This record gives sequence, structure tokens and C-alpha cells, in this order.
Amino acid sequence: MTGFGGRYVPETLVPALDRLESDYARLSRDPGFRRELGTYLSTYAGRPTPVYYAANLTRRLGGARIYLKREDLLHGGAHKMNNALGQALLAKRSGSGRIIAETGAGQHGVATAMACAALGMKCEVYMGAKDMRRQRPNVLRMRLLGARVVPAGGPDGTLRDAIGDAIRDWTASVRTTHYLLGSAVGPRPYPAMVRGFQSVIGREARSQMRKMGRRIDAAVACVGGGSNAVGTFAPLLGTGAELVGVEAGGSGLKTGRHAATLAAGRPGILHGMRSYILQDAEGQVSETHSVSAGLDYPGVGPDHAGYKESGRARYVTATDREALGAFAMLAEEEGIIPALESAHAIAGAARMAPRMKKSQNILVTLSGRGDKDIDHAGGLLGIKD
Ligand SMILES: *Cc1c(COP(=O)(O)O)cnc(C)c1O
Repeated sequence: MTGFGGRYVPETLVPALDRLESDYARLSRDPGFRRELGTYLSTYAGRPTPVYYAANLTRRLGGARIYLKREDLLHGGAHKMNNALGQALLAKRSGSGRIIAETGAGQHGVATAMACAALGMKCEVYMGAKDMRRQRPNVLRMRLLGARVVPAGGPDGTLRDAIGDAIRDWTASVRTTHYLLGSAVGPRPYPAMVRGFQSVIGREARSQMRKMGRRIDAAVACVGGGSNAVGTFAPLLGTGAELVGVEAGGSGLKTGRHAATLAAGRPGILHGMRSYILQDAEGQVSETHSVSAGLDYPGVGPDHAGYKESGRARYVTATDREALGAFAMLAEEEGIIPALESAHAIAGAARMAPRMKKSQNILVTLSGRGDKDIDHAGGLLGIKD
């Protein structure tokens, strides 16, 4: 690795990160922990998720066969549950009675609140005050699930303020509290731990495709912080599959309104890690934009920065418009409404498929379902009610 990742944090957090690293190293090999997590993943969250052959979409695109890894069918409606359950159980087994988390649009907060309710743990979620107004249903869900939602920042508070407040809380409470980070980002050991909990996606898909007698020629996933993508890619490294991450191209790279960190950023430090960061000439973190809240982040997991530089994966972008087109196309062709985040992966695959042979196979990770997006996307698509 070319120096991505690391731990750029205040001294006070180092002992907690050290402890977390050794707890994860120990528990990830502990048969009892693995069995208990496996049981929650199967009987509570609904794993294994199916791999579905999208025959209509394949016919429409006229090239490689498209298979969808259906993380949208997981409890909570997205892959986030894999990580929330993993970390919550790890915290419980390590003796932390309390979980804190940050959330932007609320999806990670809801997954965390669900996992904490199931495991009987106390849960507090920091959320920007502005995001709380914009995402009221998720605030209500979290409260219904027994979590405390704590407004962060002033009236204009967003994800950045929520992360700041969660880190401040953790600095003061490290002995009793686990900080449940929502993506494959942050200081060591978070990126590797989240990759570990999300790798169930790629491991399952690999064996499901093998059972169907299909080689994976390419795997495609959307990239926000990069957790569903790294969970898809890591188990496929070295198999010969082409790995393609799709970032949020927003209004287009030239407009500056996007969240394409790997395509348009450069190495820097953010949220405790060294990775690609969207920043201006002075190193100020840029404002980002995407039609999908889950991809709207100016950093990216350090694994992806390493994969990009080593060429093990490549990263492309899909604009808001392309993602909306893919959103509508998947709904019409397959009866599946994808999350707007996942629609970026569909858009990326839709560009690749026609250029590939009909005998080849593309695995697309459908990271989540789009019920949360129908008002927003329906409005933008001009669908009348
Ligand atoms: C949060 C989210 C994402 C983005 O997160 P990653 O860490 O990049 O996977 C993608 N899809 C859905 C459905 C999400 O909820």
C-alpha cells in the first residue's frame, strides 16, 4: 500500500483505537463470535441475499449478462446492516454498554439503531440539525427503535458537524462507549474492520455465481465512503474479475458540483485517515454534491485509494442524470426500485455491458432499495401523482 489509511487522531483516542484493533483481531477469529454474528446475519438480517439474473435488463442492453447482488433485500433495506450488526456485537462482546454513531441522511443511524435494539444496547446518534429537518422519517424511525437522536451543529448542521460531535463525545467516553462508524473510512482499524464485516457480500456472491456456473468477469459497485464496494471487491481480488467503482458525478466533473473523490481529488488527510480527498488548492475540503445523499462525501476509504494507484480496481463516475436514468430503467425492466446510490452502479454497468461479449458476466452490487428515494427521484423524473 502506498501510505493510505493510518491514524491521524488526537493522542487521547489512540488507546481506544488500539483496544478496538486487538478486540477485532481476536473476535474476528473467535468461533463463538463468528457463529453468533452469522446467526444474526441469517435469522435477523436475512442473509444470504440472492444473486438475481437480470434477464430483461441484459436483453435491453444487448451485451454481457447482468447479475444483481441483492443487498436491497437485507433488513433495513441496505448493506449497512452487515457492518452495524458486526460492530454492535463486537462492542457488546468487548464490554461497551453504549454505542454512538454519526449519520447524514439517516440510513446508517437507522441501521445502527436496529442493530442496537436487537442486541439490547444503548444507542445515541448524532445528526446535523438541518439533516434532521430534511430526513424526518429517519429521525422518527430511530426514535421508534429506541435510539436517542442528538442534533449536531447549529440550525445548518450536516454530516460534518455530526462527525465532529460524535468524535468529541467519544474522546470523553472511550472507556464505556463504542463509536460505530458507518463506512470503510476513518482511522485504523475502522477501514479494515468495516471491510471485514462487508466482505460477506463478495464472498457470498462469488460462491453463488460459482454454483450457477458463471465466472465473474466484472464486478461493479457504487462508491461513497466505499464500504459496499470494498466488501464486493476484496473477496474478488486475484480472481481475474475486473473491479469497477462508480462515484457520484453529480452535475458533471467540469461543473465542480460532484462527489467524485477518486476521479477528481488528491491525497490528503480527513477524518483520521490519509486517502483521496476532494479539496481546493489550499487544502480546504470541498463542498460536494450528489443526487444521492449516501454518496455525498468528500473522502473515500483508503483501500480504494490503494486499489486505484495499484490498478487493482478502476473508478468511473455516473452523473445525477445517468443515475436517474438507471433508477427508472431498473424499475421498469426488473420491477426493482434501487436506491439512488445503487443506481450509480447500474449506470456504470449499463455503460460496460454493451461493449462486452454476451458470454461474459457482470456482477452489480445493488447496495440498497429505493423506497426512501421515490419522492425525490419521482419528482426529478417528472412522474406525476
Ligand atoms: C450509505 C449507502 C451507500 C454508500 O456507502 P458506501 O460506504 O460507499 O457503501 C451506498 N448505497 C446505499 C444504499 C447506502 O445506504
